Amino acid sequence: MTTSQLLSEPCGESPSPQVVVLFSGGLDSILAARVLQEQGLRVRCLHCYSPFFGDPDAVPRWRRQQGLDIATLDVSDAFCAMLRARPAHGFGKVMNPCVDCKILLLRHARRYMEAVGASCLATGEVLGQRPMSQRRDVLNAIRRDAGVADVLVRPLSARLLDPSPVELSGLVDRERLPAISGRGRREQMALARHFGLTHIPTPGGGCRLTEVENARRYWPVLSRLPQADTADFVLANLGRQFWCHVDGRDYWLAIGRNSRDNQALQAATRMGDARIFLADIPGPLAVGRQAAFWPEPVLAAAGALMASYSGRAVRQAADGQGVGVRAHWQTPDGPADWQGVVMPARDGLWQEPLWEPAHQEIRAEQKARLHAATGSPRREEPAGKA
Ligand code: SF4
Repeated sequence: MTTSQLLSEPCGESPSPQVVVLFSGGLDSILAARVLQEQGLRVRCLHCYSPFFGDPDAVPRWRRQQGLDIATLDVSDAFCAMLRARPAHGFGKVMNPCVDCKILLLRHARRYMEAVGASCLATGEVLGQRPMSQRRDVLNAIRRDAGVADVLVRPLSARLLDPSPVELSGLVDRERLPAISGRGRREQMALARHFGLTHIPTPGGGCRLTEVENARRYWPVLSRLPQADTADFVLANLGRQFWCHVDGRDYWLAIGRNSRDNQALQAATRMGDARIFLADIPGPLAVGRQAAFWPEPVLAAAGALMASYSGRAVRQAADGQGVGVRAHWQTPDGPADWQGVVMPARDGLWQEPLWEPAHQEIRAEQKARLHAATGSPRREEPAGKA
């Protein structure tokens, strides 16, 4: 990522921040920013986002509610590359690669910090808050592997951790930093009262990779596509997801559940994707990823499945009439389409991805990787939730 790319994201108002705080929008990151501001430091928050976490649309509201200077940074492509290569520290309970995620975010934050001329980085991490990724040894490993040991301070737990170079230099006054640890929120709530916060985010949520409902969508994308990218995971977030496997090839279909899904699906199509819809009556929009290359029976089955989510199409079929279906797509040579008549059907060719088989595949893959790395079939240690 170049400096100009880093600075192309909308920034806040602080002209020359001294500290860049990784900012999720959660209470801990708000408090980390506020305790540093209280010391008179110029703070800029950095909100990183991807298809899996972050909400850049919320930033204007957070700026207003919290009175903080908040910039945004899209880390999607780097995050997808990390997932494709598989996280070195493994996945947690679901599909959350928390340790690798934190390393990646801190590396990006350091580049941002240098680009804007700030002197140090901070996070809202709390010692012992998460059993795996916020243990003392893991916090130290993250700091080391991200290459930020010389510039990182974790203000909320600072007095429980070894003094960082940032504190030793005198830039941040260690004695005025909290000593929070553990999973409770009592001390954070006391700090929130101290700062007079009126908008206190509820804990948890925010990362789709920790949720089974989303992970079951992501795993087929990651494991079946040769080069899953940001646009693929954006599509995985939309509508109902279906996969089928025919003659050694995988096919992927998303079907809108409502008009909002349909609009988002419309926007998520790219060259070679088919928009599949009912020809003569209203109904959902479906997107077949790279359906320009699908065999006709697969396309027709996709049309039949999409039609099965239209009440009118199902009633029409009950009267013995087939339903007209169309598919449009763009190719480098121009637009192309397909038309057919189908009977709405959920006949089993297309399957919704389930979490349990995905989970077993993830565990087996992690075990195999660990075995290959160590030469012995030891039990793997998941990274856990952040
Ligand atoms: S839960 Fe884990 S993977 Fe998700 S954003 Fe937090 S650290 Fe990253």
